[in-house]
Amino acid sequence: MSYQHLVVPPGGSRITVRDGRLVVPDNPILGFVRGDGIGPDIMRASLRVWDAAVSQAFGGRRRVHWMEIYMGEQAVAKYGGDPFPPEAQAALKDVLVSIKGPLTTPVGGGFRSLNVALRQQLDLYACVRPVRYYAGVPSPLREPEAVDVVIFRENTEDVYAGIEFKAGSPENGKLAKFLREELGASFFEDAGLGVKPMSAFGSKRLVRKAIRYALDHGRESVTLVHKGNIMKYTEGAFRNWGYEVAREEFGERTITEEELYSRHGGKRPEGKVVIKDRIADIMFQMMLLRPSEFDVIATPNLNGDYLSDAIAAEVGGVGIAPGANMADHLAVFEATHGTAPKYAGQDKVNPGSLLLSGVMMLEYIGWTEAATLIRHAYPRVVQKGVVTYDFARQMEGATEVSTSGFADALIAELRGLSDPVALRQARRRTIESLQRAREAQRVAEPEAAMEASGRLPTSVADIMTRLLVTVSPRSTVEQAMHTMREHGVSSVLVEPEAGGPWGIMTQRDVVSRIVNANRSPAEVKAGDIATRPLIMVPGLTSLHDCSTRMLAANIRRVVVEQDGAPVGIVSDTDLFRVVDEHGWVHA
Ligand code: NAP
Repeated sequence: MSYQHLVVPPGGSRITVRDGRLVVPDNPILGFVRGDGIGPDIMRASLRVWDAAVSQAFGGRRRVHWMEIYMGEQAVAKYGGDPFPPEAQAALKDVLVSIKGPLTTPVGGGFRSLNVALRQQLDLYACVRPVRYYAGVPSPLREPEAVDVVIFRENTEDVYAGIEFKAGSPENGKLAKFLREELGASFFEDAGLGVKPMSAFGSKRLVRKAIRYALDHGRESVTLVHKGNIMKYTEGAFRNWGYEVAREEFGERTITEEELYSRHGGKRPEGKVVIKDRIADIMFQMMLLRPSEFDVIATPNLNGDYLSDAIAAEVGGVGIAPGANMADHLAVFEATHGTAPKYAGQDKVNPGSLLLSGVMMLEYIGWTEAATLIRHAYPRVVQKGVVTYDFARQMEGATEVSTSGFADALIAELRGLSDPVALRQARRRTIESLQRAREAQRVAEPEAAMEASGRLPTSVADIMTRLLVTVSPRSTVEQAMHTMREHGVSSVLVEPEAGGPWGIMTQRDVVSRIVNANRSPAEVKAGDIATRPLIMVPGLTSLHDCSTRMLAANIRRVVVEQDGAPVGIVSDTDLFRVVDEHGWVHA
């Protein structure tokens, strides 16, 4: 590492990667970019808190060696007008782990945004946003403590890839002509056009990262959030690729939500992460109504943009939401708000977003003890009403402090904390007891739990009628008809005779084999007019495969089996109802 304007801190060592894992020395060099506007204020305060937490947690055994990297206005001044000079790019790659304050987007500087340039130049493909509640922070929710999710938003594709053509431009004209004439597309004459590329490569690396995170952090589930019911070959494909990664690369350590219910009766096997998916609009609703159902979330770029701000707003607003942009190992942590220029240099604003991004960074390098101290000290200070102006205006009787005043209060608080390991274990125990409570509910009432969690039915087990009405093959058709009427069903299963196969007697059989055949229902046995053998399918059969079986055999119902015995029945009426209620997600 040698640079024109940057100074490598003496005494620090580089973080490296070995066997796919970060190797972090006790004296690592971490990069920081002060940022513009309020950036210097919040960075100054946060650096003090991070250093104090590390010193408290490790008693001087470990220390961060900070290396300042210049971007934005600082870089413009030092590098002859370039807000994102090659030297900054090289340094971010060299140190691997950095944190940055907000940056002003230069107007007319050739960048759409500095942040976009940063993501693109370093291929930081995952935007990671943990959102959880800290006691005392003002929130519009009744039970904000139920929110504890980590969102992995894809950063490089989707409608954000920048493939857009202005209405009326020659490029737009060319593309419009091609779409209309070659592909039969139709749209209004004056439409601006954008392209939404989503690849298996881009989707899979994002979901892979989310699953690894869930496994490394003892998380319960990864939810793929998509709009696959409408955009089948982009969003729907994202979902399918997500399940594919889970199955092919983490098959031993993951199960689908499908299997959770159909094979394990709602009980999550020890150490396994549940992979599930939700349609994006349902997800917004669920994050308000049942946030505890969700844990790690993996989602394409646009959904992720909306979702991360919406969820952050549930627990105190985007002002304190932390975030990071990451590649496989390279990571740039950042404040998620902007430069708030009107407050620049006033030592006034809330350092929460940057501060908590630094906590994420400490966890990322494995210094969880230091991170835990800040996580515990932060709500204690806020609960005492010691807050910056933005919280003070929402809290009655609060004491408003400056940015640096908040850092002082936090440092004093964390100095009073000891034993971060015990604090972390206590939180772990709380999380596990909540997980057990949810599990007990899933086991006791699987269908109700499934529905309440916003899950869309995808397999026959999800939609089957569990009430099976059976008759003996020796009962008369008349008796069987009476049973059908009594239970309000249009078919009955006919039990096997002498080890033979199960059969089914339907209303249609009565029409064709009794009425049309001119026979008396009192004299014919149910076993004689039943269709055998039953067409049985396993509970995991997808709705698409179920429809294929029905059409191939020209039947209106299939029976769902478990270990060779019927456990439910699915008819074309059930399939109709599902599509009517939820639309159709491409198989
Ligand atoms: P902003 O800087 O986020 O500020 C909007 C408002 O949010 C502020 O006026 C303030 O609200 C509140 N706010 C933001 N940070 C706060 C903090 N730390 N503590 C308390 N309140 C805070 O958004 P903007 O005004 O739209 O953008 C300004 C510049 O930032 C633009 O150049 C934009 O390009 C850039 N930007 C950079 C990033 C980034 O680098 N990651 C992100 C977004 C925007 P009140 O006025 O109500 O007090």
